[in-house]
Amino acid sequence: MKPALFAYVAPQSVEEALELLASDEMARPLAGGQSLIPTMNFRIAAPSALVDLRRIGALNGHAVEGDVIRVGAMTRQRDLERDEAVQRANPLIAEVLGNVAHIVIRNRGTVGGSIAHADAAAELPCMLVATGGTVVARRAGGERTIAAEDFFLFHMTTALEAVELLTEVRIPALPPHTGYAFQEVARRHGDYALAGVCALVTLKDGVCSAVRLAACGVASKPTRLAEAEAALLGAPPEGEALARAAEAARDYATAADDRQASTDYRRDLASALVRRTVTKAADRARERA
Ligand SMILES: Cc1cc2nc3c(=O)[nH]c(=O)nc-3n(C[C@H](O)[C@H](O)[C@H](O)COP(=O)(O)OP(=O)(O)OC[C@H]3O[C@@H](n4cnc5c(N)ncnc54)[C@H](O)[C@@H]3O)c2cc1C
Repeated sequence: MKPALFAYVAPQSVEEALELLASDEMARPLAGGQSLIPTMNFRIAAPSALVDLRRIGALNGHAVEGDVIRVGAMTRQRDLERDEAVQRANPLIAEVLGNVAHIVIRNRGTVGGSIAHADAAAELPCMLVATGGTVVARRAGGERTIAAEDFFLFHMTTALEAVELLTEVRIPALPPHTGYAFQEVARRHGDYALAGVCALVTLKDGVCSAVRLAACGVASKPTRLAEAEAALLGAPPEGEALARAAEAARDYATAADDRQASTDYRRDLASALVRRTVTKAADRARERA
């Protein structure tokens, strides 16, 4: 199918883009177009105008600043994945990005586009929730910072208002004594996850002093696995504590049966992926110590 008629504008600055969005509530920002254009072709989305963000230099680029990685919304996913300073600051990012679609799509797809699109099965939103990241949203005359856990509201629904632009994503660097892992199960390489889990495990004297777990694909939004985290805190990342964490993860798989998988299968996946990612993250925490 072809999209419905739409206007096209390519502003040079964030201010100009915000003015255009404020003047037409049916206008939508265009980033890499890897999700928006297919939804327009299927006529799931029919924006009156596309506000192309490509010419806005201020939205491009990324930098490691102390213990935060600041990523401009229009940074291409592949650029972030390949950056060595980012890999050193938080190697989880490249591991997660390696599971997003295919290289050709990551060459065009942007970090901000994936976060704003907020597919419940997408990997980057899951990583942002797991790491405790934030997004910066700008509107004419104002800016706010939103924690990832408050940003994602539902499948393809965020706290962003129609007059706001996501301008930056902030990802914490990996804390000391911490290991990381992301794993997913998908029908084919490059597909969205049937289920995926991100794990960050901090070890002190052999026990978990901090644990952060988040899952994608199993619920209506990327979800923190708080009960599974609690089962591991203060315990070694194995044996009975790991079994309790894996069991607790099942209850977070609430997505209804669909053509890809049943709820029960997703419950099994969430459980198995918690086991695998916590074990891998703990191994890496020991290696880093
Ligand atoms: C075949 C295929 C397979 C894929 N597989 C996966 C996968 O496995 N995992 C995965 O996570 N993704 C997958 N994707 C999606 C891909 O990662 C996209 O790049 C991403 O979802 C959207 O990024 P984009 O830059 O292309 O955004 P666009 O498609 O341009 O925009 C997406 C949405 O975000 C809004 N938006 C974009 N930027 C901003 C901004 N700065 N402020 C406010 N709103 C904004 C747009 O208006 C639109 O609603 C796949 C895509 C394809 C085509």
